[in-house]
Amino acid sequence: AFGKRISTWFEGQWHEGNTPIMGAADHATWLGTLVFDGARSFEGTAPDLDLHCIRLIRSATAMGMEPCMTAEEVLAIAKEGIARYPSEEPLYIRPMMWSREGAPGMIAPAPDSCAFALCIEDLPLSPPTGVRLCLSSFRRPRQDMALTEAKAACLYPNNGRMLSEARAKGFDNAISLDADGNVAETASTNVFMVRDGTVLTPVPNGTFLNGITRQRVMALLMADGYTVEEAVLTPDDLLTADEMFLTGNASKVMPVTAYEDHEMQPGPVSARARALYWDYAHGRV
Ligand code: PMP
Repeated sequence: AFGKRISTWFEGQWHEGNTPIMGAADHATWLGTLVFDGARSFEGTAPDLDLHCIRLIRSATAMGMEPCMTAEEVLAIAKEGIARYPSEEPLYIRPMMWSREGAPGMIAPAPDSCAFALCIEDLPLSPPTGVRLCLSSFRRPRQDMALTEAKAACLYPNNGRMLSEARAKGFDNAISLDADGNVAETASTNVFMVRDGTVLTPVPNGTFLNGITRQRVMALLMADGYTVEEAVLTPDDLLTADEMFLTGNASKVMPVTAYEDHEMQPGPVSARARALYWDYAHGRV
C-alpha cells in the first residue's frame, strides 16, 4: 500500500495519493525521457524555488523537448501547492516534464509532446549530525557519455547503485569520481572541503550537477569573507581536509564526519555555511 501523503498537480487539477500520470505507451515510460527538479520549503520559505523551476525548463530542453510550460507557470503551481498543502513539516516540491510520444520512426522524443506534473510531499529536514562517506566504485559519466547537463531521471539508477553500495559498507553516501578520476559529487549532493581556512569544491566540468545550493553557499561564504576556490580535487586530496561538508536541496548544508577511514569533526565552516544559508532562506541576508 502507498502510505505516504502526496499531492500532485496534473492537467489543471490537484490529486491526492499516488495518482497515475503516465501511460503504458508514453515515450518516457519506455525510454526514460523524464526530467525533474527538487526544491524544499521549510519554516515558511522556499529558497531559490525560482531557480529550480528555471533548471527544470533547461533540463527539458536538453532532453530534446519543447517545454510545455514556462518557468513562471511552474513557479506559480509550486507556490499554489505549498499554500494548499497542510503541513508543519518541510515539503519536497518536485516538478517533472516528460515526453509522451516519439518522433516518427525514431527513438528520439517528439519535441512537441511534453507533459508536466508537480508533486508535493512531506520530507522533514535531517538534523545536521553528519554524514559518513566512502569512495564509490561507480563514476559520473562525461557529457559525451550521458545527458549530464539535464537533471534527468535516467541518470539516477546509477546514483541508487552508489547509495546501495555505500550503505552495504556501513556509510551514508559515497563520493563519485569523474571519468578522469577526480572528485565529482556524491549520489545526491555537491562536495566541499576546507583546508587551511580555504574552502575548496570541484570545478564544474559538465560531469556533475552544479547544484543550486552549491552556488548559493559559495556566494554566501565569499560575501562573508571566506576564500572559496573551485579546484581539481583528487580522492586523496579529501584525506587532507580539516573539514568537509555537502550541499543539496534536501539537507541544505551537512557536515561530513568520515571519509573512508578518515574521521572528522563537524567544523566551524560548515556550521557557518549552514547558518548563512538559514539567514538567506529567511531573508536576513
Ligand atoms: N548532485 C546530485 C546528483 C543531486 O541529485 C543533487 C540534488 N538535486 C545535487 C547534486 C545538489 O543540487 P541542488 O543543490 O541543486 O539541489
